[in-house]
Amino acid sequence: MNARNIVLDKYSAKVYKNRKEHIIEVNEVTKNQPIAANSRSVPGIMTNRGCCYAGCKGVVLGPLKDVLVLTHGPIGCGLYSWGTRRNKAKTEDGKNFIEYCFSTDLQESDIVFGGEKKLRQAIKEAVEIFHPKCIMICSTCPVGLIGDDIHAVAADTEKEYGISCMAYSCEGYKGVSQSGGHHIANNVLMKRVIGTGDAQPTKKFTVNILGEYNIGGDGWETERILKRIGYEVVCVFTGDGSYETLKNSHVANLNLVQCHRSINYIAEMMKTKYGIDWIKVNFIGLEAIVKSLRDMATYFGDKTLAQRTEEVIADELANIAQEKDYYFSKLKGKTAALYVGGSRSHHYQNLLADFGVKTVLAGHEFAHRDDYEGREVIPTIKEDADSKNIEHLDVEKDEQKYHAYLSEEQLEELKTKIPLEDYKGIIKEMDNGSIVVDDLNHFETEEFVKLLKPDVFFSGIKDKYVLQKAGVVSKQLHSYDYSGPYAGFIGAINFARDVTMGLYTPAWGLVTPPWKNKSTLKASLVGGEE
Ligand code: SF4
Repeated sequence: MNARNIVLDKYSAKVYKNRKEHIIEVNEVTKNQPIAANSRSVPGIMTNRGCCYAGCKGVVLGPLKDVLVLTHGPIGCGLYSWGTRRNKAKTEDGKNFIEYCFSTDLQESDIVFGGEKKLRQAIKEAVEIFHPKCIMICSTCPVGLIGDDIHAVAADTEKEYGISCMAYSCEGYKGVSQSGGHHIANNVLMKRVIGTGDAQPTKKFTVNILGEYNIGGDGWETERILKRIGYEVVCVFTGDGSYETLKNSHVANLNLVQCHRSINYIAEMMKTKYGIDWIKVNFIGLEAIVKSLRDMATYFGDKTLAQRTEEVIADELANIAQEKDYYFSKLKGKTAALYVGGSRSHHYQNLLADFGVKTVLAGHEFAHRDDYEGREVIPTIKEDADSKNIEHLDVEKDEQKYHAYLSEEQLEELKTKIPLEDYKGIIKEMDNGSIVVDDLNHFETEEFVKLLKPDVFFSGIKDKYVLQKAGVVSKQLHSYDYSGPYAGFIGAINFARDVTMGLYTPAWGLVTPPWKNKSTLKASLVGGEE
């Protein structure tokens, strides 16, 4: 029996029926079969997912340095999304709000009598103390349940203080995971921020980077390389990002999509409204970066730019050649499991392969079927009550600001050469025999670790310590623990160094998981399986 079936076999019939759709062993047949994704976790199972509020406030809005993001809810929600992703930001004017945790700290009496008064008071204090030019209000579960009208408060704030204020109805219970929150954040940024500025680009080749959150400085390293080649980076969504740069992002020629899941909505809408094409890139992993830079040069079709691209690639690779060989010799032949967010489990396979590490298991917390199977399946994805609960925003062409860089004929020709408005998903790039799991839970994590015995497990904070106690090196890929950047050429070496240090520390050989020398509790299911 293969690892997938051994793990599934331990479930009751009801859970088995659900989970078997979310786990596949990759082979020539399953590569072309649907996988269940973006559906509710089984109640009672220890999922590693986050909530809708976490996706909106924690992922997309949180890194905006000049925006005061105010959590309307109990303090736990704000604390939970405060600084845990290690988004880095530098400011010119000294205002960097991402270091703060702003919350209305709702109490029981507010839940009973309503929290709007407290929200208005919090905004008044925030304006008086911090003088922000933009406030974004994010609502949490209890706010949705008691029905505070955060949109009315936002409108009143704009009138009273003359600043921009927008509200996000991103209550944690909406949707099935943090993915719903990404979508809600994308919609409001598109409606209220993007395209409202009037700054003009200064260079010929202009790009935005979408889905780059500057964890551990990744965005800075990517920008350094692009600027060396000669690109102008108009805006990064949203790592080290700002309200000011977002406003002007509509002037770029090309959108580079790093994290497909969290921001493909904006890429699509900017194409319709402003004519900006997008390509899927990956600045994690040496071969992937080289390919992405060459795809960009192909898109712009400029000889000098293409030549400069090759010069920079050659120089960056020469700079790291010696260290790359050293870490390859230390890591070659090791195996890895990855369980991260919407795209990282895919991106890091490329980087691991650069150092000879084979991925035996990969999964996403909040991916949709297109992240696994490729965007061609989007028309076949059935909407359910949860996905209908998230607004689908329809935008129209902006006649004044529309500025397509290439003609339709040029685009059609390019589609055969570069990933224009396309993403092939994770499964097609994985080796036969490897396992793909959607919404991997704690039980499955432990079972797969015992069966597949990966040398290193990349995950998030919720499973990191379970794995370490089992004697497996574990590294967080949501936050990089305390390290980074891992993007770009230099980042690849940082990553290989950290993984090598983790694998070669003698600590893991000294750990004995509790189940190896003590009897464990046993239980049986009573009352039937249904
Ligand atoms: S699920 Fe609800 S209560 Fe929990 S953190 Fe998210 S918004 Fe807050």
